[in-house]
Amino acid sequence: MKIYKIEAGTFHCDGGAIFGVVPKKVWQKRYPCNEENFCTLAMRCLLIDTGNKLIIIDSGTGDKQLDYLKYYDFKGIVNFEKELNQLGYSCKEVTDVILTHLHFDHADNVGLFPQARFILQKREWEYAKSPLPIQRQLYNPETIAELERLDLILVGDRYVVEDGVEVILVPGHTPGQQAVVVNTSQGNYVLAGDLLMTWINVYPHISEYTDMLGNRVAVTPQPDHAFFPPGIHTDLTDWYDSAWRVLAFAGSRRRILPGHEPSLVGKVIPRDRVGVY
Ligand SMILES: [Zn+2]
Repeated sequence: MKIYKIEAGTFHCDGGAIFGVVPKKVWQKRYPCNEENFCTLAMRCLLIDTGNKLIIIDSGTGDKQLDYLKYYDFKGIVNFEKELNQLGYSCKEVTDVILTHLHFDHADNVGLFPQARFILQKREWEYAKSPLPIQRQLYNPETIAELERLDLILVGDRYVVEDGVEVILVPGHTPGQQAVVVNTSQGNYVLAGDLLMTWINVYPHISEYTDMLGNRVAVTPQPDHAFFPPGIHTDLTDWYDSAWRVLAFAGSRRRILPGHEPSLVGKVIPRDRVGVY
């Protein structure tokens, strides 16, 4: 099995949108932001070649609503065809696209993979068509309409996509988010999507953090917290249960890959040491 990481671009997200009711005083040391209160997040997709299947995990944001989304200041949006060509593949060879959830930064490129089947949780599909008002902007109606015409596999919790690649339901960020468990020579890695966006959500006790540019940033440790929830969630109780579930599947926090973690840019997994040491 070959696993490639595709960096699909970066975007700005308002600190308030990420942290909700948590005061800026508490989070600003942990997440550096600019003078306009924006934190930089990475968009990350995976490409897995199992020899039998070519699987994409999450498709990033496309260019279909960039004007509408200019608030997010997307940069370096990946050209999937070009990226896949460089790795010796093409978009039409992709057999399966796993969508952790249907927010615009994860699902807006679904139209690029004409031969693929699309694996998502039934609960996410239902919610995406009628989200809570505060989350409507996170679901692109054009993407939902596009998916209606594609080959959907709507699953309920666990589903084995291929030997060594399994999805599991991890609600909390959205009601139907799924994580992807990939069995490697170094154990199970779990791509947590937005359930755990950064290392800080996985390791609340840390006192130093590496940002996207490799700078070490001092952060305030929160030793009383087992996990630290991001600000966007539909059910916080579910979120905690899901965080423990992800850890149980990974077996170690070091094998949890947070969906928007900036310091993972450029790392090769499982070759490079990742996580917080
Ligand atoms: Zn996201």
